[in-house]
Amino acid sequence: MKNQSKLDLVVVGSLALDTVTTPLATRRDILGGSVSFACAAAAFFARTGMVAVAGQDFPRAAHARLRKFNIDLRGLHKAAGKTFRWSGAYERNMNQRRTISTDLNVFADFSPQLPQSYRQAPFLFLANIAPDLQLQVLSQMRRPKFVAADTMDLWIRTARQPLHKLIARIDLLLVNDAEARLLTGQEQLARAAAKLLKWGPQYVIIKKGEHGSILASPEGLTLLPAYPLEKVQDPTGAGDAFAGGLLGCLAAVKKLTPGTLRQAMAVGTVVASFTVEAFGLNRLAAIKRANLDSRLRDFQRMIRL
Ligand code: AMP
Repeated sequence: MKNQSKLDLVVVGSLALDTVTTPLATRRDILGGSVSFACAAAAFFARTGMVAVAGQDFPRAAHARLRKFNIDLRGLHKAAGKTFRWSGAYERNMNQRRTISTDLNVFADFSPQLPQSYRQAPFLFLANIAPDLQLQVLSQMRRPKFVAADTMDLWIRTARQPLHKLIARIDLLLVNDAEARLLTGQEQLARAAAKLLKWGPQYVIIKKGEHGSILASPEGLTLLPAYPLEKVQDPTGAGDAFAGGLLGCLAAVKKLTPGTLRQAMAVGTVVASFTVEAFGLNRLAAIKRANLDSRLRDFQRMIRL
């Protein structure tokens, strides 16, 4: 029998109640945060443990939803105070997002102690949260095989030093195009990627929203389009779901080559495409692994030359 407590992947990041405004609707205090999207996406493929903190106001229904995704929650702490909150609004074309407010709340002084069972996991994803916290989690892991990290403009502006320290210690950095430019001061993404590779990671992925993603490795660049959708309801969490799907797939395959990384990017692309079809985690909660596999086949057919 498989040891159910043994994890393939550990993810740390923000656990949030989001208020999201799109041109058509506003949803208040819905379950979100980088760790929720990333874990929900990864758990389709691999045994995934969450490291995060919730406040006393964290709704039972949100907790139940995380459990239903089959996420290991032994690393989810409860603290006195309010849950992290983020609020943002999208412009008409949904490509432009404005952050209205970020309230760290219980994340402001969260100092995670990972359960022993988490420390042995071979894969680690440091999803978007304060770089100091990402470093704290990294330092508690015992020789992970592969470490990936994401970040955001807020941390690039306010926590550059710990962010640089982090980037030097990871295998894969995931950033979006605006973050890559902000981090490196390079306008051309190929140049930005080359600069980021020099800072330490073996791989850099630059996400470009509906325009797909770029993988940079010592072997050169690989381009992948996004899955074309007719209707996008809420782009929030697409980047986190992309990364979660990618890491979950890699952790399941257990083989690390530029080839498996490209396959994992295709999986991440497909999970992200489902995520944006509804608000928050609603769409991911409604699909099964078979839906992902079927869209993945469709996507592979589309990108064949
Ligand atoms: P994405 O759309 O992939 O960039 O991720 C959006 C998610 O990131 C939302 O659910 C937010 O709760 C979360 N988020 C927003 N700002 C931050 C921040 N500064 N640190 C960590 N998570 C954040």
